Amino acid sequence: MPIATVNPATGETLKTFREHGPEEIESRVAAAAAAFEGYRATPMEQRARLLTQAAGLLDADREGVARLMTAEMGKPVTAARAEAAKCAKAMRWYAGRAADLLADEYPHESDVKDSGASGAVVRYRPLGVILAVMPWNFPLWQVVRFAAPALMAGNTGLLKHASNVPQTALYLEELFRRAGFPEGCFQTLLVGSGAVEGVLRDDRVAAATLTGSEPAGRSVAAIAGDEVKKTVLELGGSDPFVVLPSADLDKAASTAVTARVQNNGQSCIAAKRFIVHTDVYDAFAERFTAGMRALEVGDPLDDATDVGPLATEKGRADLEELVDDALRGGAAALCGASRPAGRDAGWYYEPTVLSGITPEMRIHREEAFGPVAALYRAADLDEALAVANDSPFGLSSNVWTRDEDEIRRCARDLEAGGVFFNGMTASHPAFPFGGVKRSGYGRELSGHGIREFCNITTVWYA
Ligand code: NAP
Repeated sequence: MPIATVNPATGETLKTFREHGPEEIESRVAAAAAAFEGYRATPMEQRARLLTQAAGLLDADREGVARLMTAEMGKPVTAARAEAAKCAKAMRWYAGRAADLLADEYPHESDVKDSGASGAVVRYRPLGVILAVMPWNFPLWQVVRFAAPALMAGNTGLLKHASNVPQTALYLEELFRRAGFPEGCFQTLLVGSGAVEGVLRDDRVAAATLTGSEPAGRSVAAIAGDEVKKTVLELGGSDPFVVLPSADLDKAASTAVTARVQNNGQSCIAAKRFIVHTDVYDAFAERFTAGMRALEVGDPLDDATDVGPLATEKGRADLEELVDDALRGGAAALCGASRPAGRDAGWYYEPTVLSGITPEMRIHREEAFGPVAALYRAADLDEALAVANDSPFGLSSNVWTRDEDEIRRCARDLEAGGVFFNGMTASHPAFPFGGVKRSGYGRELSGHGIREFCNITTVWYA
């Protein structure tokens, strides 16, 4: 895949980049390792000052970087502005909380005595150079979600961003440099996925985090496993959105639309499988389909646009294959299932609702990465949970009910890293984010996220 900005709204190549060769990669890995030696010892207050400075710069840059993201991957510019604001907020959150989250821990006195020590403390020390392999769908947020805690913990970062968002990747490197982080603390490698193995096997690189598809995750984890290096994997999702009879149906249907089409349908935590109790199925399906039909599909730079183009031509082709497979298998399209009329340029696709999904269809087990909803009818809660859990993925989940027993049951039984009631899945710096099953392992955000790339050290005094 060439490293280039190709506007998904037009198909036009806006800028191409030369890939970093072996010498440039070597110089950047060496700089990251050298930077770690000094940076690891910086006081927490200094790191917090630098990260707060980065947040301020990002706030000032918001409009420009939002338009850049939209030009590179097609998200509506309103969502791009919100993404930039969310990144600044996460930076400030970690700047303010990291000292507490990484404070020394003192074991219980009786345990210290039992161990024979005169004293003991658990200390969170940084791990070293962390390689971050990141996707294009939230090109700023996915990186900041890694970088803010990693830098606060005293690590240094090497970013291998997706090949279609090079300008956002370079912006991030520049942002941390302008904020005053020492040279080498955060750098971008302009490389394709073929260069990842060499960097990951380098002894100076301590660990890796990858957000992206399952094949990419499997490959990076296999190499890291071979090198005995820690990884965090944030992979795909096909989140269930369960609607039960006591739900507020209007709110559930309108939230379902937003949850499905956010980021043009290309979000790992987008609700993708809508599992509706038979008693409210018809009413929900009608309102949900009406909401999907009413969406404004168009130029992502227009503030009035709800759904822009898919990020790549291949992404749209993959989605079309998934829809065609379902239709061939007997699914019905309640709306969409085609390219919008009159939009020949760009990689647009109509918001789509498919009903009559069966386990034989690919969309039942694969992630639909675009504005396509799979609708299921469930006879009761047991069947709804069985369908929800019948997925290789386990990222997050949504349930709409006002029944306390159903809430308890779903919070216990849904196989996912998050269970959201009467609202859509969202992330916040204070809450852990991540999945189970093929959605990956490890957590980002919160105290759990910042500790993933720490050397949790026992300091013991005789
Ligand atoms: P992708 O193709 O896996 O790419 C993600 C990153 O991995 C890119 O930087 C890519 O580089 C690199 N990559 C691809 N194959 C690789 C390999 N074999 N070895 C090393 N690196 C490799 O995924 P995508 O299409 O950009 O992103 C969409 C996927 O990400 C979806 O499945 C989505 O659900 C998932 N995602 C998950 C989360 C989460 O938090 N769980 C968040 C967002 C997205 P190139 O661009 O150079 O190929």
